[in-house]
Amino acid sequence: MQRASEELRADVVARGAAFARTEIAPRAAEFDRTGILSREVVQQMADAGFLGASIPVKWGGQGLDALEYGELTESIGKACASTRALLTVHTSLVGETLVDRASNRLKEKYLPDLATGRKIGCFALSEEGAGSDAASITTTYRKQGDVFVLNGRKKWISFAGIADLFLVMATDNGTNSAFLVERDMAGVEIQPMSGFLGNRATHIAEISFTEVEVPAENLVSAIGVGFSFVTNTALFHGRYSIAWAGVAIAQAALEVMCTYATGREQFGVKIGAHQLVQKMVADAVTQVGAARELCRRAGRLRMERSPDAVMETHVAKYFSSTIAQQVTSDAVQILGGNGCWDRYPAERLFREAKILEIIEGTSQLQQLMIADYGYKKFAGNEPGWER
Ligand SMILES: Cc1cc2nc3c(=O)[nH]c(=O)nc-3n(C[C@H](O)[C@H](O)[C@H](O)COP(=O)(O)OP(=O)(O)OC[C@H]3O[C@@H](n4cnc5c(N)ncnc54)[C@H](O)[C@@H]3O)c2cc1C
Repeated sequence: MQRASEELRADVVARGAAFARTEIAPRAAEFDRTGILSREVVQQMADAGFLGASIPVKWGGQGLDALEYGELTESIGKACASTRALLTVHTSLVGETLVDRASNRLKEKYLPDLATGRKIGCFALSEEGAGSDAASITTTYRKQGDVFVLNGRKKWISFAGIADLFLVMATDNGTNSAFLVERDMAGVEIQPMSGFLGNRATHIAEISFTEVEVPAENLVSAIGVGFSFVTNTALFHGRYSIAWAGVAIAQAALEVMCTYATGREQFGVKIGAHQLVQKMVADAVTQVGAARELCRRAGRLRMERSPDAVMETHVAKYFSSTIAQQVTSDAVQILGGNGCWDRYPAERLFREAKILEIIEGTSQLQQLMIADYGYKKFAGNEPGWER
């Protein structure tokens, strides 16, 4: 992949950390409360190059490698889960997938606009009846002359409320294919959804397609590879981003609990001096460090194009989302009543962490796949014990 110089890439990562600290973190509670990630913030992210962070320079992006992109994702995610979700959806699920799977013609048509944030992308797979069992989607397509005609309804689609371009999975009697659908194509309708536990500012919406005519060139990859190529690739990139999101939220919760435990006094001492509190802090320090190393390992394997990269990304996502849930729960515990109050960040982090166990494949689905990976990798490897 064509990359910018190491210095330029390091500058993007450093600017991301500064932007997250000064522009995003102070507004995270407001985004959560209002359910709006404003156009202004999206534009700031675009202008800074973050929305094309991992997209090759050739297509208008910044060309960060997987570890650099992970670091950027952690910085933004530590400040605000909804803002980080824009990277996950727009940059990882849509942008990186088009880099890997779209024809050059389609890349030329859309990637420069996506990489520079002139267009926002979202990923439309889930439906009312198709969640974990994604292959059971009922949104259909049929070929009609020079176009594909789409009909159906997608649900839970992050950023569909503001996106210009949708990467949509559809089926033709079990033959699944992926299409790029523009928001203003006739027959596309958006219904915003609200009332979410977390990711509240991600403009989640339902999308309905009624006789939507999509130009044949907007087919991504080829007929029949909508899952094997496009969805699997998208989720591979999305899960990597979510793995870092878990580290980000857990790190934020760790900092919140340590700050509080060293400030608040009960029974005449700082609560951090109580050994039961220390146990929670020690677990959090250990878990956050372990999760970050798993993410880095997945990142290195991605850069080496190792066949283990896919499964080690599952492992990293499963572990970091699990520990994010534990660490944020302990942060709420350490803050006591203040942990349950929205004037402190612990309750928001707790809610955001739970979302990570659901999206890009639930923890149960990760467990099924990781167990299968374990059997293949380790069964029959025992060191010759006598039976
Ligand atoms: C905040 C948010 C944002 C989202 N954004 C998007 C988006 O941008 N694009 C998109 O396409 N979708 C999106 N989704 C949908 C998300 O991908 C699905 O919610 C997720 O895949 C789970 O599907 P489901 O909700 O239908 O749950 P189900 O599949 O109905 O699962 C319910 C429960 O059953 C368990 N379960 C199911 N099958 C098995 C099994 N075989 N073995 C063991 N347990 C099982 C699950 O683990 C889960 O605990 C989003 C969801 C949320 C909450």
